[in-house]
Amino acid sequence: MNILDQVLDVGRDIVERRVRLGVTGLSDAGKTVFITAFVHALMHPGRMTRLKAVAEGRYRAGILRPQPSQDLPRFPYEACVEQLTGARGAPEWPESTRSIAELRVSVRYRPRGLMSRLGDNVLHVDLFDYPGEWLLDLALLDKDYETWSQEALEVARSADARPHAEPWLEFLATLNPDVPDRAAEAAAIEGAAKFTAYLRAFRDARGRSTVVGPGRFLLPGELEGSPLVSFCPLPPPAAGARAERNSLRRLMRDRYEAYKSQVVGGFHRRHFARLDSQVVLVDIAGHASRGGAALEPVARSLDSVLRALRIGSGGWLPRWISPRIEKVLFAASKADQVPTDQHEALDALLRKSLDESIRRTSYQGARLEAFSIAAIRATREVVAASEQDRRYVAGRTVGEERDVAHFPGRIDLSGRPQGTFEVVRFLPPPGLDPAGPWPHLRLDRAIETLIGDRLR
Ligand code: GDP
Repeated sequence: MNILDQVLDVGRDIVERRVRLGVTGLSDAGKTVFITAFVHALMHPGRMTRLKAVAEGRYRAGILRPQPSQDLPRFPYEACVEQLTGARGAPEWPESTRSIAELRVSVRYRPRGLMSRLGDNVLHVDLFDYPGEWLLDLALLDKDYETWSQEALEVARSADARPHAEPWLEFLATLNPDVPDRAAEAAAIEGAAKFTAYLRAFRDARGRSTVVGPGRFLLPGELEGSPLVSFCPLPPPAAGARAERNSLRRLMRDRYEAYKSQVVGGFHRRHFARLDSQVVLVDIAGHASRGGAALEPVARSLDSVLRALRIGSGGWLPRWISPRIEKVLFAASKADQVPTDQHEALDALLRKSLDESIRRTSYQGARLEAFSIAAIRATREVVAASEQDRRYVAGRTVGEERDVAHFPGRIDLSGRPQGTFEVVRFLPPPGLDPAGPWPHLRLDRAIETLIGDRLR
């Protein structure tokens, strides 16, 4: 047992508290990198000056501890650190979140004021990583099968989606879903496979973080191939027609309802209702790169997240999802892809995307903050004196032998057409030390926002 373990295990004299922090965001938002950097920062707090416990000299140490839930996968922290620090070759970004995972890091600190006389405290920080696509499924709880089908078909027939949806729509046209059918099960499986193929193709064409669902069709996790994800929308029945027993429509409807209650409801009842703080990562710079139009679905998805978190009073969720979450941070990730003189604009763009939801829902209960961060800073800044001090971000990109300097264009809050603003992907910075602090932008402020008050 090392010295830190002994210190934390003294237990009896130490006040132990816990805080459960949810980390979500759509695919590619930066969850995996964020969790790795967050945990690493708590263990190596050298550059965490905006974390008050560190600034006030009260922070002692952070160590990994066994996670509290026996039945959740553990977040693969060590593997992520190995990839980032280049333990197995060149540094690379870790594999992205595909399912839920949990990790506990325990922090020992001295409380403020008189309490400090009683000795140190321990805060267990339980990080809970889950795909935002699953969170957005909450909107389904509210919809019956017919309504969901109708909405999904409208999207599939829209100009953007139609080319990808055609094989599935053609398949639907061959079905007679309202009569008893011995082959209903096979049709449901084939329909679900074609529907899923369409959702994936549409998402890939529009950027990985496009919101089309249900979430488990895109990221099935442990449900891959199960009946719970073997259904799809159907066109409405002919006027007056009723879905008979053993018909395909009945089967689809039952599975949709099972998905809602077992997958969406069950998942959230177990995990989501127990969160204290929540960070929602949004790759705003990436979305802005795809043009103003790409930001609109993001705004919509953030709106759903806000509703799901029941920050607004007009909640439509069942009561068991209690509004316990005290703090929500919306963080624009990968800010290091954008020169620092544009970070204010990046923050403004994030807030603008949230603005309508905030205004409409007049949030209450939770504290909400929104700013941009880089969990790991992969770039440095280069100023071109010959170009009126224009600022570039510089770093290594895939396939390049040398660092490249990139000017992404200027962020425009009105959402300019594609092409005028474009970020590039950089590799992780070389030389990240497995045993020392890592470069970041405002990760310390994010940690202070999320758990700072628990370290007082
Ligand atoms: P997830 O799908 O939400 O888990 O997203 P990841 O954490 O896997 O991040 C997706 C990709 O975004 C990574 O592979 C990196 O290319 C990039 N990325 C994430 N965080 C950062 C960051 O802080 N800085 C930079 N420059 N890139 C990042």
